[in-house]
Amino acid sequence: MSTDTLLDLSHVSVTFDGFRAINDLSLSLMPGEMRAIVGPNGAGKTTMMDIITGKTRPDTGVVRFHDHDLTKLDEPAIARLGIGRKFQKPTVFEALTVRDNLLLSLKGLRSPFALLFARKTNEEADRIENLLRTIRLGSSADDLAGGLSHGQKQWLEIGMLLGQEPDLLLVDEPVAGMTDAETMETADLLREINQTRSVVVVEHDMEFVRALNVKVTVLHEGSVLAEGTLDQVSNDPRVIEVYLGR
Ligand code: ADP
Repeated sequence: MSTDTLLDLSHVSVTFDGFRAINDLSLSLMPGEMRAIVGPNGAGKTTMMDIITGKTRPDTGVVRFHDHDLTKLDEPAIARLGIGRKFQKPTVFEALTVRDNLLLSLKGLRSPFALLFARKTNEEADRIENLLRTIRLGSSADDLAGGLSHGQKQWLEIGMLLGQEPDLLLVDEPVAGMTDAETMETADLLREINQTRSVVVVEHDMEFVRALNVKVTVLHEGSVLAEGTLDQVSNDPRVIEVYLGR
C-alpha cells in the first residue's frame, strides 16, 4: 500500500451463508480522486460500500482510511472520520423546506422538531447559501422538499451530506430514475464536489460514467476484474465476457 492512499481495501473477503460475496478484494483510492465502480448485478458493489461504512464487517482483510483501520470501528465512528454515504433512494424531510433540510444537516439534528428550538447562526446561513448554489437549488430554497423532482431530491440529499463536510463521499446509483438533463447535471455536480473531496460512485448508467470522465473499477464476483478509463475497461475482453455472458 502507498502511504499516500486515502482509502485502501486490502485482500478483503466476506462470506454470507457460505457464499463469498467479496472475494480477496483489493482497491485503493488516492486523496482527491473520484472513482466510478461498475459491475453486473451481484458483483459486490453494495457490499463493498457496506464494508467501507462499517455496516458489514469483513471476515478477512484490512480497510484503511487515512491511518485508521475501519474494520475495528462501528458505523457512527466511521462517519465521524469523514465518510458520508448517499444511498440510492433519497431520504429528505418532505414537509420541511429545502433550506431547513440543509440546516438540520448542518446542525447534525435528526428530527425536524428539533428545528423548533434551533437558531441559525450567520455562519450557518452563509454555508446554506453556498450549499444551495452547489446543489442547484437556490431558486427552490423556500419550497417544501416534498415538491421537488426526484433528481432535485437526490441533489438535496447530496447537499445534506456535504453539510457534514466529509472527506470522502460514497454515492450509490445517484442517477437512477433521473431525466437525461438531470443525469448530466449530476455529473457536473459531482465533478464540482470532487474539486474539494474524494468521491466513489457506484453506477450502471454508462453515459453518466462517461461524463464523469474518471478511472473506472469493474467488480465481478466480489473482486476487481479490470481498472482503467471507461474506454479501456469496456474494450477489455474479460469485461465484455462478463457483461455479455459469453
Ligand atoms: P451488487 O451491489 O453489485 O449488485 P451486492 O453487493 O448487493 O451486489 O451482492 C453481492 C452478492 O452477495 C449477491 O449475490 C447478493 O445476493 C449477496 N448478498 C449481499 N448481501 C447479502 C446478505 N446480507 N446475505 C446474503 N447474501 C447477500
